[in-house]
Order: sequence, then C-alpha cells, then structure tokens
Amino acid sequence: MSKHTTPAARVVDVAVVGVGTIGSMALWALSTARRRSASTLRVLGIEQYGTVHTHGAFSGESRLFRVAAKEGRHLTPALLEARTRWLELGRLAARDLLIPAGAIHIAPSGHPDLHAALSAAEEFDLPHRHFDADDLRRQYPQFAVDHGDEGFLDELAGVVRPESAVFAASRQAQADGAEVLYNTVVTSLSPTGTGVRIETSAGAVEAGHVIVTAGPWTARLVPGLSRMLTVANFALAWFMPADISAFLPARLPGFMRDFGDMHAFGAPSIDGFSVKVSPHLHLPTVANPARRPMTLSREQLRWLGTQAQRIFPSLDPEPVRWSVHPDSQSPDSRPIIDTIGEGRISIAAGMSGNGFKFAPVWGQAVADLALTGASPWQDAEFTLAHHADPVD
Ligand SMILES: Cc1cc2nc3c(=O)[nH]c(=O)nc-3n(C[C@H](O)[C@H](O)[C@H](O)COP(=O)(O)OP(=O)(O)OC[C@H]3O[C@@H](n4cnc5c(N)ncnc54)[C@H](O)[C@@H]3O)c2cc1C
Repeated sequence: MSKHTTPAARVVDVAVVGVGTIGSMALWALSTARRRSASTLRVLGIEQYGTVHTHGAFSGESRLFRVAAKEGRHLTPALLEARTRWLELGRLAARDLLIPAGAIHIAPSGHPDLHAALSAAEEFDLPHRHFDADDLRRQYPQFAVDHGDEGFLDELAGVVRPESAVFAASRQAQADGAEVLYNTVVTSLSPTGTGVRIETSAGAVEAGHVIVTAGPWTARLVPGLSRMLTVANFALAWFMPADISAFLPARLPGFMRDFGDMHAFGAPSIDGFSVKVSPHLHLPTVANPARRPMTLSREQLRWLGTQAQRIFPSLDPEPVRWSVHPDSQSPDSRPIIDTIGEGRISIAAGMSGNGFKFAPVWGQAVADLALTGASPWQDAEFTLAHHADPVD
C-alpha cells in the first residue's frame, strides 16, 4: 500500500456507538441474537473511554432498581423483564449485579408517585407492603418519619451495581462474538444510502446499521437532536451512620424520600462503612457535556448534609465522598428510542436520570430496531414524533 492510499473502512453489520449503560446492553442483546440464530452478524461496539469509566451516566456504585413503575403502570412489564435480565446477567457474570434489598418510598400521605407505584403493584399483583407512619417507625427506625407519612415497599426492587453491570454486559457480548474498540472516539455519522459511514479516531467503519447510545454526548453526534436533548447533572453523596449495621442491605432497602419540595434517593451501605443519600440538588443543565459542573461548593455540601441528616438523624452530616455525573435529559423525561436516517440509525437517549433500571430492556429495544425495524418494547411516548411535541 502506498503511503497516500486511504485505508479501507472496516465493514460490519451493526455498530453500537457508546458502550456505556444502554450501549453495553444493546451489544449483549445483539450478540445473544447472533448466538441464538447461529448467524454471522458482525457486531462492533465503539467506546471513547475504557470498559468502565467515570465520565458518563453510569458511575457511582449503585442505581436504584424498582419494579412497580411510578412513571406509568404500562412500564411495569418492562421493569419485570429488566429484573429477569439483571438476574440472568448476574448469573452469567458470576457477580451480584442486583442486590435484592427491596426499595421503599416514604412520603407525605397521598404523594402521587407513591400512589402510582402502589396501583402498579396492585394491578400486576407484585409483592409489596404499604405502611402508615407508626408502622414505618417500628420497621425502619433509621428514618425520621413525620406525622402523616406513609411508605410503599416494592419487594422485587433493589439496587443494581452499575460499573459491574456495564462490564458484565460488555464482556458477555464479546464472549458471544461482538468486538469492541475502546478508547476510540466517533467523530461523525453519515448515511450512505446502503448503510452508515462512521468516522472514528482509529479510522472509518461502514455499518449496515448504527445504534447511537452516546448518553450525554448524543446531540454532539446527532446535532438534529439538540432541540430535544440537554445534559442534566446529578450529585451523589455518602455519609457515615452511627450504627452501620442498621444501614446494610439486610436492614435498609434502597429508598426514595420526599418531604416539602425535597426529593432524595439512596441505597444501603455497599462499602460497609457509609450510606449513599442523595437529596436532589439543583445543578445547571448544559448543552455541552464538556461544560458540565464537576465540583460542589462548601455550601452545597453543607445543604446535602443537612438534608441527609433530616432523613436519617444518626448520620454525620459531613459527606465522606461525593461526585457529580451527567445524564442526557429529554423534554418530558421519557426516553427517546427511535430511528432516523431512513431507519439505518437507531437512537436510545434522553434517559433523564431514570435509565439504569430499564437498561437491559431499552438495550433490547434498540437492538430490535436495528435487526427488524420494530420492537415490542418501543412505546409511542419514546418516539421522536412524541418528543418533538410532547404535549400532544
Ligand atoms: C448520579 C446519577 C444517579 C442516577 N440514579 C439512577 C437510579 O438510581 N436508578 C436509575 O434507574 N437510573 C439512575 N440514573 C440514570 C441512569 O444512570 C442513566 O439514565 C443511564 O446510565 C444513561 O445511560 P446512557 O447509556 O444513556 O449513557 P452512558 O452510560 O453515559 O453511556 C454513554 C456512553 O457513550 C460513550 N460515548 C459518548 N460519545 C461517544 C463518542 N463520540 N464516541 C465513542 N463513545 C462515545 C460514553 O463514553 C459513554 O460510555 C442516574 C443517573 C445519574 C447521573
């Protein structure tokens, strides 16, 4: 080859751009389809960082997993399916990906999210418990419970380990024949009529179909989505309880706590010394992930500590660690799962702070769109048409 010859583009059937949360699950779904049909489907993942990293939406030790969907009862079947897949992936990887601690929501009586989850549990006959304030104080003395509070325990819920999950799905996909290019940045996508040309920092790839699962970076790759997608930023914080035994998964479920206009979520202790309590701190939303806030002020940390201690009075209000992470945000917090480019580019984005629990199913949905053009998991609310005009 002369030194002026352009290297031939690598050719694959399906490329997954961004192997984070949804991308790793899409790769796993594609490679499972490849194995089950004994096909020669060429599947390639392309990830700008390494297998597990701290830049995207998935780091931070734990993610709350719920089954009774407060977001709308019609989403409960997707969460039941996600639970089956979390357990299956955990078995395949020999890792405890889903800690079956349950998840409790404590809120002032009549809270709409709590009651939406309660009706989903009743409709789908899910194991659950409904507590009044006195029951809550007896069962969960770690929490400060106000007069008139109620609690809903989703017994099939728990906490997913996000770094292990992304690692496990990526490795399982590779074991089933997918390839992944790590530390490789995709710089552009151009439909060619018969497929999509992908320019990367390591050369070009020609793919029959591209799945874009680039999370907070999606609008940089597909600028047409910048009207719909922003980058939301979420703070996580961990605190020291006086008695750690009351905060281990055997005694503390994953939790959500509402009072006044404050919403917080968290997880039982996983590291064995601290507990994650994340009161929702309003951080600026940005268009460019490179401009995202990455640090918290002393005042913000103090506010987090005050709120955390309001939830669990025995906590030391000084955070032992904290971090800020981005997620792609859609206008109405519903995900975008749809195709563009005459059906040759599938997109899963706009996970809006809620995508981890659904990830194996949303990964299957974009894999289905790539392989067959349709998915039973795609909902009308996830389409670009819905997001272009979400009030309709
Ligand atoms: C702090 C925090 C707490 C959360 N808590 C919960 C929770 O308790 N429960 C829950 O269900 N959900 C939760 N979520 C939401 C959930 O974690 C996210 O919705 C989900 O992780 C989003 O996944 P993603 O695949 O869209 O993005 P990511 O996981 O960030 O994946 C995108 C990937 O694409 C790669 N990429 C981007 N651009 C390129 C490019 N040009 N070339 C190559 N690679 C590229 C990135 O490096 C990254 O690996 C939380 C989110 C945050 C931020």
